[in-house]
Amino acid sequence: MGKKEKKSKEKKYVYSFGNGQAEGRADMKELLGGKGANLAEMDLLKLPVPAGFTITTEVCTYYYENNKTYPKELKKQVDEALKKVEKIMGRKFGDKDNPLLVSVRSGARISMPGMMETVLNVGLNDETREGLIKQTKNPRFVYDSQRRLIQMYADVVMEKAAGIEPEEGKSIRQILEKELEKMMHKKGVKHETELSADDLKELIVIYKNKVKEVLGKPFPEDPQEQLWGAIAAVFESWNGKRAVSYRRIEKIPDWWGTAVNVQSMVFGNMGETSATGVAFTRNPATGENVFYGEWLPNAQGEDVVAGIRTPNPINEAGKNEQNKHLPSLEKAMPNVYKELLKIQKKLEKHYKDMLDIEFTIQEGKLYMLQCRVGKRNGPAAVRIALDMLKEKLITKEEAVLKVSPAQLDELLHPIIDPQAEKNAKKIGSGLPAGPGGASGQIVFSSKDAVEWANQGKKVILVREETNPEDIDGMRAAQAILTGRGGMTSHAALVARGWGKCCIVGASNLLIDVEKKQMNCSDGTILKEGEWITLNGSKGIVYLGQLPMIKATEENKDFIKFMKLCDSLRKLKIRTNADTPEDAKKAREFGAEGIGLFRTEHMFYGEGSEKPLFLLRKMIVSKTESERRAALDELFPYVKEDVKGTLKVMDGLPVTFRTLDPPLHEFVPQNPDERKKLAKSLNIDLDEFNRRADSLHENNPMMGHRGVRLGISYPEITEMQVRAIFEATAELIKENKKPFPEIMIPVTCIQTELQHQYELIQRVHKEVCEKFKLKEIPHLIGTMIEIPRAALTADKIAEYAQFFSFGTNDLTQMTFGFSRDDIGSFLPEYLEKKILPYDPFQQIDRDSVGELMRIACEKGRKTRKDIKLGICGEHGGDPNSIEFCHILGLNYVSCSPFRVPIARLAAAQAAVRFDKKNKKEKTKKKAKSYNVHYIV
Ligand code: ADP
Ligand code: MG
Ligand code: MG
Repeated sequence: MGKKEKKSKEKKYVYSFGNGQAEGRADMKELLGGKGANLAEMDLLKLPVPAGFTITTEVCTYYYENNKTYPKELKKQVDEALKKVEKIMGRKFGDKDNPLLVSVRSGARISMPGMMETVLNVGLNDETREGLIKQTKNPRFVYDSQRRLIQMYADVVMEKAAGIEPEEGKSIRQILEKELEKMMHKKGVKHETELSADDLKELIVIYKNKVKEVLGKPFPEDPQEQLWGAIAAVFESWNGKRAVSYRRIEKIPDWWGTAVNVQSMVFGNMGETSATGVAFTRNPATGENVFYGEWLPNAQGEDVVAGIRTPNPINEAGKNEQNKHLPSLEKAMPNVYKELLKIQKKLEKHYKDMLDIEFTIQEGKLYMLQCRVGKRNGPAAVRIALDMLKEKLITKEEAVLKVSPAQLDELLHPIIDPQAEKNAKKIGSGLPAGPGGASGQIVFSSKDAVEWANQGKKVILVREETNPEDIDGMRAAQAILTGRGGMTSHAALVARGWGKCCIVGASNLLIDVEKKQMNCSDGTILKEGEWITLNGSKGIVYLGQLPMIKATEENKDFIKFMKLCDSLRKLKIRTNADTPEDAKKAREFGAEGIGLFRTEHMFYGEGSEKPLFLLRKMIVSKTESERRAALDELFPYVKEDVKGTLKVMDGLPVTFRTLDPPLHEFVPQNPDERKKLAKSLNIDLDEFNRRADSLHENNPMMGHRGVRLGISYPEITEMQVRAIFEATAELIKENKKPFPEIMIPVTCIQTELQHQYELIQRVHKEVCEKFKLKEIPHLIGTMIEIPRAALTADKIAEYAQFFSFGTNDLTQMTFGFSRDDIGSFLPEYLEKKILPYDPFQQIDRDSVGELMRIACEKGRKTRKDIKLGICGEHGGDPNSIEFCHILGLNYVSCSPFRVPIARLAAAQAAVRFDKKNKKEKTKKKAKSYNVHYIV
């Protein structure tokens, strides 16, 4: 009893699986990593999973917090778990007659494809191999496994984990690969599978000598040493360069850590009835509901993914130009294929998602080695969500959660202009691994891609195949093109995850990375820097730079999916637009109003000359009568501008913000311009300069701007408001339904607003009389962008029928960070993790968010039906939109192109937060920084 009690107090670091009795579950990813949790789940589903155990991510955290040591209980727990495995498998680890071999596999919470290490065939040495040969009567397979172990172990454990950084081309992996090639050459064979048992036996000796020579240490023969060496190497790989770089890009926290899975080996390299493969339950590139995958006979582990051989298609449906001559699993092993088909259906039903699976066939028997939710691109994500809804596999709510905002963004990405594509010169083709179109200058290394992209160039990264070391270059490139590899190769996987245009396996292009050139089948030779264009949806490579167009309008799935989102969301989505053209575009994207119309935009850009001149005249006017004269001249321009937008937005609300920037921004610097203005005002240049210079401010962001201008010069507000009311009145007479909302910026105290409110009421009355209308529909409100305003929102609400959070300024004034100068230190702040993210991109819930919460609460206290919205940049950020939903805002307003993303984010927030135990969840989540989207 006593012993048992003690045992239950001991912290559990190791979880077993096998025989359908796993200790873990799919929802234990935080502790067991994705791979471990799903292996356990598959085991519980009674699928054929080789027995094993998972060492938790907590051990990884412990390892790094305690000078790279383990908790003292670990060794014993591992020994016990290993015993269980031995019992299930009827073999013993390290036994010379009946040896158990294991794989040691990494596995973080979120899959990091190929970023971390795995070692196969652990437990094999010169002694145990003899037992295995006797048992299997297959010496070739045993030697092959041993030479793979030495190769992997030397690379992963003895070199990488030991922190050795070899020169280019001199890594132990490359050195041993060269020995393998030498051997193949010597024996006159093309594939390593053609090497005989004796060849491999000879190679093992060569390998061992090379390892000792290069790394200064012998390859360890002791199975226990091998096991613990591999475990440590997996933990070390969490902090490997590639993994760290990947985490930065994917925003995965460093403290998560990886789990380690130790699993009994099954062998795909025992001959022609053995095989290894990877598959997707649906096509990850298009979303089409067909089982999709690749396999290789007589192979082990990563052979399929590594792009060493062109893999075979899993079924007849998966045949393409590159692999049509190769036998499918469906034909070669029909029974195994049928079983696999059944398993993948079962898994999909269980997980309610498209999955990515890894399997191995040992002498005709199928084993499942991994399953996880499959990465897919945007178009596929949308299609899968809609299909699964139709198949009644998932609900509406689940469907909406299946597409991330970033994936939806991909659908908004360009494709090659079909007209231009017709006439373009085709120079190669491969597999369509990442959709859309992209053009760029070709570069042949990840390093060049990064450097060129930093210089502002658009590049396409061209490689024979990519590996995890290329990750930064792949990120920097517009698109990726590889000569080898299949749809499940590293390049394809990563590109798909990012929604990047990508073509793999373009075998008709001869890519020479050393010479930095690419030979096309028609004889064209392309050198570094030349332009090409990829059609990643079809897998075609074109010469030169082709024009791109947007794809959204033609995508029926997109429209259907958006409707689904609209049926679930609570937030309205408005847009920020200052011109009738922008407004029209936003309406097409589904905007339900304008949340921010900046009056000042009519003074910039095309057609702004005349109004700008008049504005300037007004600005440097000295007396009210001078100013009124200038304003009267300006009036028709403002009215026309307002009317144009109200007309496009007929039936929907438009929020007009009165003049916001400090006036000096509009004063011309050019002497000629100044002369002209002076003349029109009947003053001399000296006087003009004096007036202009007197507008100078030391800190204009907090200077004479926004409502302050309206207080100093009420006639400026008056002119704008009159223009808005008259435009509205005219449209009413034209039988339109305009709905203006007048918004006062930069308010900090209610008396400011009261002043403007009374003025607006007066003008409203005057315009009503002029147009013989009883009333002109409108709202009067303010921006909340100064902390004082947020904190006194109850008083401000007395004069405001709506609030719109100006979160750009609010963030600036809450953090004390200048919006315009943050570039000088923000990157460093992010790098050093002083800040978890840029607060100008994502609302900081703890501060800015708290001010918003207070403002909402106080505003509602005074005015129950106060309308609440947001018009800062944050209105297009999914995480911030979620926060707005939690606060119960009426709408978010964002730039026209973000509108679809906002519609999705709003729907997802509604699904996540309006379900059961609403209150508790809201409280908990509302404050936390990181909300992760399902990818
Ligand atoms: P990754 O996370 O990079 O996919 P894995 O841990 O999945 O790494 O290992 C890579 C491959 O090694 C697997 O796809 C599988 O083919 C092979 N492998 C791993 N464990 C075993 C095992 N116990 N038996 C046979 N093959 C294995
Ligand atoms: Mg894997
Ligand atoms: Mg502002």
